[in-house]
Amino acid sequence: MKTGIYPGSFDPVTNGHMDIIERSCKLVDKLIVAVLINPNKDAGLFSIEERIEMLKESTKHLLNVEIDSFSGLLVDYAHYKNASIVVRGLRAIMDLEREMQMAQINKNIAAEVETVFLVTRAKYSFLSSSAVRELALFNGAFDDLVPAYVSAKLKSKLE
Ligand code: ADP
Repeated sequence: MKTGIYPGSFDPVTNGHMDIIERSCKLVDKLIVAVLINPNKDAGLFSIEERIEMLKESTKHLLNVEIDSFSGLLVDYAHYKNASIVVRGLRAIMDLEREMQMAQINKNIAAEVETVFLVTRAKYSFLSSSAVRELALFNGAFDDLVPAYVSAKLKSKLE
């Protein structure tokens, strides 16, 4: 069985993430979308539990997708989950440097784990969780950028 991991902050999950999830779950038998618990990063807008809940609600139509969280090294988590593929999304050239560095570091410490990049659909190439958070904070429209469940959560969070 081929298991893939799609790691990220997902604060919150956007339609750009959803596009990557929907495309990559067809490439593996099981896709684990894993929220990174990073103690060095700010708390963010949503708690880890809220991010997990939003991911679960937004992916419930996808039968081979599992939602989880992890801390520590991604490759250790991949070994623990018996996963051989890490999926990442590439929006633009600005993502490339950071993504290449991460993939090369991971390759160095775990040669059997492959990082696979999916190129974002053009219509989502500008989209990021931070842009959505900012739009939400300043009353911008974000309904078309996130799953419906996330949109409702954002509205109630900021009320
Ligand atoms: P991180 O903090 O690890 O970058 P994110 O939640 O921002 O976490 O992103 C997780 C993954 O999703 C990364 O591979 C990122 O490049 C990708 N991604 C983010 N936004 C989009 C988007 N709009 N379209 C496609 N991929 C995206």
